[in-house]
Amino acid sequence: MSDTYSFIMEIENIKLPKNIINFYLDSGIKQLYPPQADAIKKGLLRNKNILAAIPTASGKTLIAELAMLKAIIENGKALYIVPLRALASEKYDRFLQFDILGVKTTISTGDFESKDEKLGDINDIIVTTSEKADSLLRNKTAWMEQISVIVVDEVHLIDSSNRGPTLEMIITKFRKINPRIQIIALSATIGNANELGAWLDAELILSEWRPTDLREGVFFEDSVFFSSNNKDDKKQTIPKYSNDISTDLVIDIIKKDGQCLVFDNSRRNAIGVACKASTHISKYISKRTKNALLEIAKDIIESGETEVAEILGACVKNGVAFHHAGLNSNHRKLVEKGFKENKIKMIASTPTLAAGLNLPARRVIIKNYKRYDSQFGMQPIPVIEYKQMAGRAGRPHLDPYGESILIAKSDCEYDALQKDYIYASPEPVLSKLGTETAIRSHVLSLISTGFANNRDELMDFMTATFYSYQNDNDFLMQVVDECIEFLQSHEMIIKETNNLGEIRFFSTKLGNVISCLYIDPLSGANIVDGLKKSDSLTDLSLLHLICTAPDMRQLYLRSADYESINDFVVTHKSDFIQIPSQFKAIEYEWFLGEVKTAILLKDWIDEMQITTITKKFNIGEGDVRVFTELGRWLMHATTIIAGILNINNDLAKILEKRIQYGVGNNLVELAKIRGIGRVRARLLYKNGFESKEDIKNADFKDISKIIGHKLALKIFQQMDVDFVYENEIIETIDSDSKNQTMIGDF
Ligand code: ADP
Repeated sequence: MSDTYSFIMEIENIKLPKNIINFYLDSGIKQLYPPQADAIKKGLLRNKNILAAIPTASGKTLIAELAMLKAIIENGKALYIVPLRALASEKYDRFLQFDILGVKTTISTGDFESKDEKLGDINDIIVTTSEKADSLLRNKTAWMEQISVIVVDEVHLIDSSNRGPTLEMIITKFRKINPRIQIIALSATIGNANELGAWLDAELILSEWRPTDLREGVFFEDSVFFSSNNKDDKKQTIPKYSNDISTDLVIDIIKKDGQCLVFDNSRRNAIGVACKASTHISKYISKRTKNALLEIAKDIIESGETEVAEILGACVKNGVAFHHAGLNSNHRKLVEKGFKENKIKMIASTPTLAAGLNLPARRVIIKNYKRYDSQFGMQPIPVIEYKQMAGRAGRPHLDPYGESILIAKSDCEYDALQKDYIYASPEPVLSKLGTETAIRSHVLSLISTGFANNRDELMDFMTATFYSYQNDNDFLMQVVDECIEFLQSHEMIIKETNNLGEIRFFSTKLGNVISCLYIDPLSGANIVDGLKKSDSLTDLSLLHLICTAPDMRQLYLRSADYESINDFVVTHKSDFIQIPSQFKAIEYEWFLGEVKTAILLKDWIDEMQITTITKKFNIGEGDVRVFTELGRWLMHATTIIAGILNINNDLAKILEKRIQYGVGNNLVELAKIRGIGRVRARLLYKNGFESKEDIKNADFKDISKIIGHKLALKIFQQMDVDFVYENEIIETIDSDSKNQTMIGDF
């Protein structure tokens, strides 16, 4: 264990009220981890900004918790910002435990347009994603001004071109709103913590300390060579159990009572690794665990409609699982829980699992250190990513140590892996704010929320960003000017000159709406353009229109798709608002990709079975959810924008609901009932129950015959009707069951 600290701090000696101290003591935390103690010394409880750039599992959350609790006892509020919704739930569950201290926590990750005004009135901690935090600021949610501490989890993501600009902008906005706000930034180890810390005006907590020792190694030929200082730990020969190296490495650790995470670079590979291992691992698992695994496998098969459920279920029976963003959320949760309970012994995953979720294992195998990049082909992953995956090794207090293992196929590769990963320093975090695409939407929101009303004010704001801290301001101003020009030409902002010749920008109604809807102004411009161009919009025209928005995720157009999608375009020519010329090959191919995405949405609202959709488009159930959620949001935006333009928005309104529920128009009312879902809604409809009213007036027995007793019971209770069930009249409505979200058959 590389401990760079010499002092110890007892929880009891922290200057916080007794009930908070007891809360931690009761949960078994008696001493602070060294980086936590360092944070206290450096002013965590004296309102100092803190940047903790320390390894996974070194206790970052507790640093944030202490600052939040201190702020709350002084009547402040805390905003905890995470990059992913899944992480938000994890943190929310943790902070709910503060309830016994009288500290109320909530989560705000829903629709971007909603202000969630009430959430902040009664809660002390609000957990949210960076995008939702930005949208709350744009919608001028009142309680945002009361926030006295913000925690930015995974702040190194400032470097991500996707998420980074928003993260950087919200930090800058909060500092403008309240210059005294305390910022707690939590990061993986990074190359330029000094620079990021200086921008944040933060005290630095830098350390390699971990609660469990990490041994990093490279497998070559038949052994793992660890970078340990201890001579006896340096080489470990792995017995041969199969004809697959990673399976052998997994079995080796399971035999020592450990668990294993295997990272691979694609979903397909991760599934392949799991399936291969699954045939060998079963014999090393106890009968008791196997019985528990059977239960998990049963739940997995029951909560999925595609063949992925069957494959995952079959793997889980043998103690093995796979995990990636294409899985549906039930599957993901079941796998995570099964692993945490030490029933599932190995998970093969894409690197997404390494980014955040708290799912450590004794051994981590990084099977593939290269990843496909559409521009450059297969590329080595950055060191910071390697470190995050490796950092998942070792469960604190449960494993004696953690091991991370890379696999080399040659002498040369062995040397390179040691040099480029194990002994390498992580890359610096670089701001990605310097492009029009990155800041267009932020420039609009600054104007529409009144943060900046002229070029100087915009620039004043922009010079407070990390980008400006790292780069030349002239270039940034040039990009801001391009954005202003774009927003003006699309009538989202207007320029006014007063008597003194001073120029001021104001956002138009359209600009305000686009900012609040939290869509890219280019998406807004595309939608406006499309709506104005056509006077005979159809379902397909609108579905394709939203697929032209940069906010929409696009399906990849494979060469095999070209002909069929092209045929579809020819057959439905009149539905498309504009078709680019086939002579403009790149533009036309991009268009076909949009059409392919629109076809997915169309299949969804035409009630095609999920399993058929996932097969047809070669995607997972989780992906279908992403496409449909984005589609619904953009169709909602289309509805609002059409309203502003005085264009009839009835069709868009209907489509928004159809995309939300994945049903034909006649089924929307039934599908809205919580827990019914699209398949059962169709069954009810076919049996003559076409509306909510029909169900209310129906005989309980008839409904339960169609959708099952349990669900029928819940539905009747939810609908506020008295009904007869097994000769007993059910009268009251249990308010808890009303509030429960039931799982529909997505
Ligand atoms: P990180 O965010 O740095 O990856 P976490 O904050 O999730 O790490 O902490 C990892 C685990 O360590 C958690 O289970 C947490 O409860 C535990 N932990 C944190 N601080 C302490 C401490 N001082 N003593 C004992 N356990 C701790």
